[in-house]
Amino acid sequence: MESAMQYIGGAFEPGFGQRTGPVYNPATGDVAYQLHYADRATLDRLCEIAGPAGREWGNQSHARRIQVIFKMRELVIRDTEILAELIGRENGKTLDDAKGEIGRGLEALEFAAAEPHVTKGEFTRNVGGNIDMFSFRQPVGIVACISPFNFPVMVPLAMTAMAVATGNAVILKPSERVPGAAAHLSKLWAEAGLPAGVWNVVNGDAEIVDAILEHPAIAAISFVGSTRVGEYVYQKGTSHNKRVASFTGGKNHMIVLPDADLDQAASAFVSAGFGAAGQRCMAISVCVVVGEETADKLRERIVAQTAKLRVGPYDMKGADYGPVVTAAAQKTVNDAIERAVTEGGELVVDGRDLQVEGHEAGFFCGPSLVDRVTMDMQLWQEEIFGPVRAIMRAQDLDEAIAIVNAHEYGNGAAIFTRSGYASQRFANEVEAGMLGVNVPIPIPVGYHNFGGLRRSKFGEAHMFGPDAARFYTKMKTVSHRWPEPESVDEGLSMSFPSNS
Ligand code: NAD
Repeated sequence: MESAMQYIGGAFEPGFGQRTGPVYNPATGDVAYQLHYADRATLDRLCEIAGPAGREWGNQSHARRIQVIFKMRELVIRDTEILAELIGRENGKTLDDAKGEIGRGLEALEFAAAEPHVTKGEFTRNVGGNIDMFSFRQPVGIVACISPFNFPVMVPLAMTAMAVATGNAVILKPSERVPGAAAHLSKLWAEAGLPAGVWNVVNGDAEIVDAILEHPAIAAISFVGSTRVGEYVYQKGTSHNKRVASFTGGKNHMIVLPDADLDQAASAFVSAGFGAAGQRCMAISVCVVVGEETADKLRERIVAQTAKLRVGPYDMKGADYGPVVTAAAQKTVNDAIERAVTEGGELVVDGRDLQVEGHEAGFFCGPSLVDRVTMDMQLWQEEIFGPVRAIMRAQDLDEAIAIVNAHEYGNGAAIFTRSGYASQRFANEVEAGMLGVNVPIPIPVGYHNFGGLRRSKFGEAHMFGPDAARFYTKMKTVSHRWPEPESVDEGLSMSFPSNS
């Protein structure tokens, strides 16, 4: 397969860098191709092109910019099959799941079309002394978006749609494990009429990310990925005076109360826990069940549902989920199961020995379920990005909420109950940014703000929603006065101006 390349100033090129890295097909375990990594000199040259291209783009009318966004939306819809195939081949998720993420990416483009509305300014007539005051927003300049492997289309679109719409030049640094979809998005932006140099892509790993974090021409950085890297990106980026929004890891709990519909709760847990092989930042990884009897009944249903799951390559008809992304990820999952057992967990479903016929070297993990997990176990403490899920048992709602709030992450959380009182308490007291009541994956739609709390997000901005427009623009406030042509000079005024 052809290597994805850097996309700079409207053209694909290998860049000056000498380093390469493997891109795998996770379903077969084969190296699909070696990806060329960009180096600092390539980034320097890119910024020299992106700076003026972005300024010109930012000076275009809002209507002109939005026309490109509309066209891009049409093209992503037109090429859904191509994009889904690229996602499946490099990330491993099923074609249906890939189409689902493309649909969520479209929401970002749809909301970006509201850019003129969400960025329009404020005006006050006569704040004092016949001075009128107004505020307006301008693009920040060049923004860099660093994305993870698990959403090769949705996250790049979520990060860049509003950045483009607000008139910035964009540099996307996709995950080096899934660069193919980003390359196709580059072609689509060009076809949509985005001027050359406004959208650019550099490939690579930590080395190019460091170059981005230090580059003086880059004004803002949007990062999505693990907490370990996202915290580093936030600290280093802000120490280089950039605005940074880092959306990071999660450990999403689902509380189930005795009054919940247990069939619904079991289906929700299995879908949200094992979908995409558990490789979603909003995947449910822990079920906290209130009451022993409820836990036993729910577990029985979860085990029955889990037994029906079909695991296979991305293009297998009827596959529920595909492989994990690398052999290292597969090992992490298997090690976590081993350790959970050593630490006292009850392994109820063991997916470690799964063999997918014809794909024996693929990075597959069957679904695994560990019951009686406790807070001193690694399986609760760490985000395990794969299909191993935990059941914890709590005595009452207080204890369940305490477990959720004791975790370092606060991306999402859900509760399954018929009690309004319990769900109100849950929303009030749980320290997570995205909450679901009888909704297991409560990802906000494109016109609401997306983001976690605690160590699931660094920085005040949100992805999606009006906050994205604020993040990618800077505000200026102008005081203006137009004295009568023949007015008399009032002389010096040395005291601090008062408007009363
Ligand atoms: P990752 O942190 O390994 O990689 C993310 C990006 O950072 C990639 O582009 C990668 O090249 C770069 N990177 C990796 N190591 C680096 C280093 N040492 N220095 C600088 N840059 C580095 O994350 P991943 O494995 O690709 O994605 C999975 C993680 O992303 C999970 O933790 C998941 O929860 C998280 N995630 C969070 C959200 C969210 O919205 N909060 C969404 C999707 C994924």
